[in-house]
Amino acid sequence: MRAVQKIVRNVPPHWVGDGFPVRSLFSYQEGEAFDPFLLLDYAEPYEFAPATAPRGVGEHPHRGFETVTIVYQGELEHRDSAGNAGSIGPGDVQWMTAAAGIVHEEFHSARFSREGGTFEVAQLWVNLPAKQKLSPPQYQEIRSAQIPAVTLPHAAGTARVIAGELAGTRGPAKTVTPLEVWDLELKAGHAVDLPVPEGHTAILVVQRGAVQVNGSTRLAAVELALFDRAAGDISLRCESDARALLLAGAPIGEPIVAQGPFVMNSRDEIHQAIKDYQSGRMGHLT
Ligand code: MN
Repeated sequence: MRAVQKIVRNVPPHWVGDGFPVRSLFSYQEGEAFDPFLLLDYAEPYEFAPATAPRGVGEHPHRGFETVTIVYQGELEHRDSAGNAGSIGPGDVQWMTAAAGIVHEEFHSARFSREGGTFEVAQLWVNLPAKQKLSPPQYQEIRSAQIPAVTLPHAAGTARVIAGELAGTRGPAKTVTPLEVWDLELKAGHAVDLPVPEGHTAILVVQRGAVQVNGSTRLAAVELALFDRAAGDISLRCESDARALLLAGAPIGEPIVAQGPFVMNSRDEIHQAIKDYQSGRMGHLT
């Protein structure tokens, strides 16, 4: 069993643009404890009234990492300088490898804006190794139907395997470094041991319900546990029906120097990123 290294609770919400009331459960400002992950924003279910103009975040850049967006409720529309565009709905995932640089916008879809409703979304930032930070951008749109659901032993629930492998089932996301991203639906009164590869950083985020971790620590909604990197399973016992996100990955182990939407390895590379963005070398939305 893996020891819990850190618990995160009571994170205050803040707005990202006018579309996403998020809690940042961790960020690169806390150092390298979460390596290879840089940031997790989770927007709990929030009711939006119909609107004439879509709410969200306008044109902005990214360089040096990937953004992984998981929609639970509502519909998100995206457009970027590499020519990718599309909307993703409940259960869908957008895996955007910004790498050398991309400019994009993230808004509620036109349809969702017109009708209003409940929006719920998570965005994870995954770091890239130095040698891939300036690779060409990539984009994976992963539909809910492509994501296999593994039935957990002892009727404990299901795991949608977005990335990595669980019980012989591999998720569809192509990752640069070894990663696990599992979307868990857990049943009240049941227990499960989740096998996470030895050496991987492991994080559990409870989004709904309550879960007992390792027989002692209780996590309620919008609380997070960070585990140590030793070998061993993560043992969960569900107090009430719950949804949780399990994130794990091999640490990259390189310096993290970040400023806003740029995450590089040195100050010089950050200055270069700002220059490249300002001079249009990350492209434009057309
Ligand atoms: Mn963005």
